[in-house]
Amino acid sequence: MIPIAKPYLTEEEAQAAYDTILTGWITQGPKVQEFEEKFAAYTGAKYAVAVSNCTTALHLAMIVTGVGPGDEVICPSMSYIATANAIKYVGATPIFAEVQPETYNIDPLDVEKRITDKTKAILIVHQVGMPADIDVFQELCDKYGLKLIEDAACAAGSAYKGKKIGSHSELVCFSFHPRKVISTGDGGMITTNREDYYNRLKLLRQHGMSVNDRVRHEANKVIFEDHVEVGYNYRMTDIQAAVGIKQLEKLDWIVIERRKIAAAYQEAFKSLDFVRLPLEKEGYYSNYQSYSIYLKRSCQVGRNELMQELLDKGIASRRGIMTAHRETAYKDKCGVLSLPVSEDLQDKSVIIPLYVPMDEEKIKYVIESFRSIVTPETITAH
Ligand SMILES: *Cc1c(COP(=O)(O)O)cnc(C)c1O
Repeated sequence: MIPIAKPYLTEEEAQAAYDTILTGWITQGPKVQEFEEKFAAYTGAKYAVAVSNCTTALHLAMIVTGVGPGDEVICPSMSYIATANAIKYVGATPIFAEVQPETYNIDPLDVEKRITDKTKAILIVHQVGMPADIDVFQELCDKYGLKLIEDAACAAGSAYKGKKIGSHSELVCFSFHPRKVISTGDGGMITTNREDYYNRLKLLRQHGMSVNDRVRHEANKVIFEDHVEVGYNYRMTDIQAAVGIKQLEKLDWIVIERRKIAAAYQEAFKSLDFVRLPLEKEGYYSNYQSYSIYLKRSCQVGRNELMQELLDKGIASRRGIMTAHRETAYKDKCGVLSLPVSEDLQDKSVIIPLYVPMDEEKIKYVIESFRSIVTPETITAH
C-alpha cells in the first residue's frame, strides 16, 4: 500500500524527545524557546511563538487583531475547516470567498467584492503549500484598513517573491500536524514582526500569566506571577519542541525532495490535456504539502472511480480540499451561498501520494497507474 503522506521522523527526533524527557524540562522550557528562535531565524520573521497547533494559533491571531462579535473575516471556504472555525471562536462571521482554479488560492477580486463595513480582516490560506499572492492582499488590507492574517498551516518551507513564508505579514500561523511537511506530533507556530503582538501572544497561550515558568525557575529572587487577562492553555511541550528543532534542520532538504517528486508528476502528466496540474507562477515556491490534480470535463474517468481504481492498485488518494460551506456545521448558516469554482475543485480534484523519502519505483508506479486509469483507451488498444 502506498500511503497518501508520511511524516519524515528519524532516530534523531526520537533521541531528541528521549533526551528532553530525561532533562525534566517538559513544557515551556529551553527547547520551546530554542525552537521559537530557530523558527524565527529560518523564516526571517522577528519573533515566533510556539503553540499547541495551528487552530489555536489562528484563534490567538484573531484575538490579537481585535476580531470579535459582529465582525466579518473574509477567508476561502476551500480550506481545512479550522480556518473558518477560528473566526467563529471569537464570535465573528467567516465570509467565504472564491478561489482561483489554477492555484486553489483565494481570489483577490472576489474578496474585494465581499468587503463591507463589518469586515475586519482577511484570512488568506497558502493552499497545500502554494503561496497566495500576499502583496495583493496586503494592498487590499491597506486600502480598506483591514488586518491580514496568513493561514500557513501547510506552508512551512514555502516562499513568496524570494522570502520564506512567515516573514511577509504581521501574523502567520503554521501547523506541525503529521499531515504537514514537518511535524511535532501536533504543534503550531505564529510568526510576527510586531513586538506588541509577540508579547500578547505569549501571555495568551499560557493563561495570561505574567511570568513564565522558565523565568521563575532561573530567577534568584522570589517572583510572583499575575494573570493579567483571561488566557488559554495553548502551550507546546519541550518534548515537541525538541522534535521540531530536528525537523526544522531538515525542512529545506524535505522541500527540495518533495519538489523533485512534484516535478516528476508534472513531467509525467503534462501531456494529458484532460487534467490540470498545480500551477507555480514565477516568484512562487511551493513545498508541495500535497499534489492535487484536477480532472477536466473531458476526462473519461470520474474522480471517485479513479480513486477506487487507485485504491485497488494499492495507492491511497484523497478527494480535493474540502469546502467549509458545504459541511453540516456551516451549511444553511451562510445564507444562499454559491461558490461554483470551489465546489467544482472539491468535486473534481484528487490528491495523490507525495512523501519523503518515496522511492523511484513507487513514484513510477503511481504515475503509471494514474495514467493507465485515466486513459483507458490506450489499454484496450494493446
Ligand atoms: C491543517 C490545517 C489547519 C489546522 O492545523 P492544526 O495544527 O491541525 O490545528 C488549519 N488550516 C489549514 C489550511 C490546514 O491545512
